[in-house]
Amino acid sequence: MVTNVQTTNILQTPIEYLKGVGPLRADLLKKELSIFVYEDLLNHFPYRHIDKTVISPISSIQFNTEYIQVAGKLIALEVIGEKRARRMVGQLSDQSGALLELTWFQGITWIQKNVQIGATYLVFGKVSFFNGKPQLVHPEIELKQPQNITAKNYLEPVYPATEKLKARGLSGRQIAHLTQQLFSILPSGCISENIPPEICNRLKLVPRFEAYQAIHFPANPEAYEAALRRLKFEELFIAQVRLHIVKLRRQNASRGVLFEKVGDYFNTFYNRYLPFQLTNAQKRVLKEIRSDTAKGHQMNRLLQGDVGSGKTIVALLAMLLAADNGFQSCMMAPTEILAQQHFEGLCNLLKEMPFEIALLTGSTKTAERKRILKGLLDDSIHFIVGTHAIIEDIVQFKNLGLVIIDEQHRFGVEQRAKLWKKAAIPPHVLVMTATPIPRTLAMTAYGDLDYSVMDELPPGRQPVKTVHRAEHARASVMDFVKSEIEKGRQAYFIYPLIEESEKLSYEDLMQGFEQVKSFFPEPRFSISMVHGKQPVEQKELNMQRFVKGETQIMVSTTVIEVGVNVPNASVMVIESSEKFGLSQLHQLRGRVGRGSEQSFCILLTGSKISAEAKERIKIMCATNNGFVIAEKDLELRGPGEIEGTRQSGAVNFKLASIVNDRQMLEVARMEAEQLVEKDMELQSQENSCLRLFLQSSKGKTGWSKIS
Ligand code: ADP
Ligand code: MG
Repeated sequence: MVTNVQTTNILQTPIEYLKGVGPLRADLLKKELSIFVYEDLLNHFPYRHIDKTVISPISSIQFNTEYIQVAGKLIALEVIGEKRARRMVGQLSDQSGALLELTWFQGITWIQKNVQIGATYLVFGKVSFFNGKPQLVHPEIELKQPQNITAKNYLEPVYPATEKLKARGLSGRQIAHLTQQLFSILPSGCISENIPPEICNRLKLVPRFEAYQAIHFPANPEAYEAALRRLKFEELFIAQVRLHIVKLRRQNASRGVLFEKVGDYFNTFYNRYLPFQLTNAQKRVLKEIRSDTAKGHQMNRLLQGDVGSGKTIVALLAMLLAADNGFQSCMMAPTEILAQQHFEGLCNLLKEMPFEIALLTGSTKTAERKRILKGLLDDSIHFIVGTHAIIEDIVQFKNLGLVIIDEQHRFGVEQRAKLWKKAAIPPHVLVMTATPIPRTLAMTAYGDLDYSVMDELPPGRQPVKTVHRAEHARASVMDFVKSEIEKGRQAYFIYPLIEESEKLSYEDLMQGFEQVKSFFPEPRFSISMVHGKQPVEQKELNMQRFVKGETQIMVSTTVIEVGVNVPNASVMVIESSEKFGLSQLHQLRGRVGRGSEQSFCILLTGSKISAEAKERIKIMCATNNGFVIAEKDLELRGPGEIEGTRQSGAVNFKLASIVNDRQMLEVARMEAEQLVEKDMELQSQENSCLRLFLQSSKGKTGWSKIS
């Protein structure tokens, strides 16, 4: 125990106490690299290594040799050239018999004083070719006795340094010296282990101290890889342990209404009125919901299902489960149209069952509103579908047990909290979203939530045929759309109007509208248009006309609602599609392909587009799978940029990458989950190292609040 305290202290020693640092350099290290104590220096990792472990014969230099270390006798040294071409050139000869030119443009006087013809040197540098001959410009050069020339027994680290640091004599190489100095005074036990020994053994992870040593000064590339693997795993594992502890503690602390049984409502509907077989994914999610709600804790589940995967029916079945246990449910949608559609869908599916279902939105008439408020209070209304209007304080329930939130990203946390307050015991919450988040991202950013994925579409869905067309093919695209409309279908034209930078793109939209009109003249065709500048009522009205089939064409910006269902719409043309991100393209495309007809998505672009845009379009044409697209999106943009990421801090690791180290993340998650489930307070002897570590890194974790 005593050693433990001492050794922890040594890593917390202020950096100025390290030999070779002092107050001035310490200041710089703090300001430029946030290195305050010894531990921070240990965590300033090299970004590559230079191999000086071998001494090669000069004759082995090839055209593709990058760096080389050689040893030999300096047989010539002279200053040649004039003015800017003035340089010091030496010739090094070794036992291979070949010659290597050493060249200096600067520091010539110093070389003249310190380097001697006839002496033996160990030389390292970057190989370049001049007049077909190999040379090293400004090599590192070290005087040696011919009998004791030895190579380094470790790879030399190269550290990131800033210009300011370099100017003050703290280049990457000096930092290497400091790190080396630090290791020379650290007792070997001072970097305590934080992964339980059983896991270390089973996964063949090198011990922590060894890993730190080898990530800085590895004996060979294999040792470096092993160290890197260990430290990456540690990052992921520790993060997952934290998430699981937070999650379990919250679950255990929260009280939730109990859905004890599956009763008649559920069973009757399931056996008699369910219009199709559930997919396996739907069944699985339903089981998860069932098990969540039977525990007496509040469910807080995020359900991600690709567009069209059938989330609504899962929600409906969960609502029947609530009803079986005597509870009311509400379902919230982000817009009136979506709420309306859900309402109609529910009424239709439940028409043979004895439920009272209500719709409450901003445009509900006063008398109806009164009736609804009363019905919710006396439990004569069982299900309510609506918009934000449901959140208002005046809306009170007799016994709300379940809240479904469709398309979550438009609902804030506070709004959700308001819903919870509508019952003595907070209702279960199921948040549904059609914006796929890559699994790895979800595991890190949402790892503390319950989380379900529906990665399967109902059978018989025809994938949307997606093609890329350049501007010059517009006429034939229009002809194609016309032929589809003539078959009785409807079409979308989408424009990239970004609401903040309206002006220019608004004009584009108007131009586009005129252009579409000229191809599809009235009265033969009728067109709706919606955009963010319209008053809400007008937007809704125009939407409705399209939904009802009164117009055949919808010209729209991206305000077109997520989740809106117009099965008869089978064509979507996306204008300037190079300007959209992948997940947005996928969301938009999800508006077609909802009926039984083959649907099409045409991605129009200018003729010159960036390589990245080309890649996005290629992916869109190649797959309809939202999760594949989300993974690609993550690869192309990196974790920080992805929509729906709550806390980018949770996904940015120092060494590990949720894109490149997916498998490791899966393993870390599984190990963490098992460990926390067995020993949430980390009380066992086996887990004590982990507990001590988490306690010592307080502030970075919710742990501090609890312990
Ligand atoms: P989303 O997940 O995008 O909200 P919906 O719930 O709107 O998807 O479902 C899309 C369509 O698929 C609806 O018409 C729905 O009736 C249908 N559907 C849902 N589940 C199934 C299933 N298991 N088999 C066949 N069709 C299904
Ligand atoms: Mg939906």
